[in-house]
Amino acid sequence: MKGREVLIALWPISGRQSILKQVTQECELCVLARLTEWLYEDELVVVVLCESCGVPMVVLREHEIELGEESRQRVLGTLTEVAGTYYGKMEFYIDEHMRQIPDHLHFHARPKAVPWWQYRNAGDLS
Ligand SMILES: [Zn+2]
Ligand SMILES: [Zn+2]
Repeated sequence: MKGREVLIALWPISGRQSILKQVTQECELCVLARLTEWLYEDELVVVVLCESCGVPMVVLREHEIELGEESRQRVLGTLTEVAGTYYGKMEFYIDEHMRQIPDHLHFHARPKAVPWWQYRNAGDLS
């Protein structure tokens, strides 16, 4: 289990300077891959419903970002298939942007009809 190294500032009561300390924070996606209900799983990935977006999201089981082209295509294929079942007739696209956690590979499958930031409040569209 790898985490993210983050810098936190500690302010000693009597000191003038902050002390920067490295702490390890557990990666959200590693936690997610263990705890959330899965739409799909195999030895490479799990597909979960993203907690913040409410859409299917594929997450690598390992805390990795680099992936060979073959595995990458497989991950994309898995998400396309699971999302296809999830959305039914609704069109969707694969969003490869990793906004919040850039060092653990995950892709979202988002509906085309609704901007992703609105989807959560849009209710059931199917
Ligand atoms: Zn999300
Ligand atoms: Zn991770």
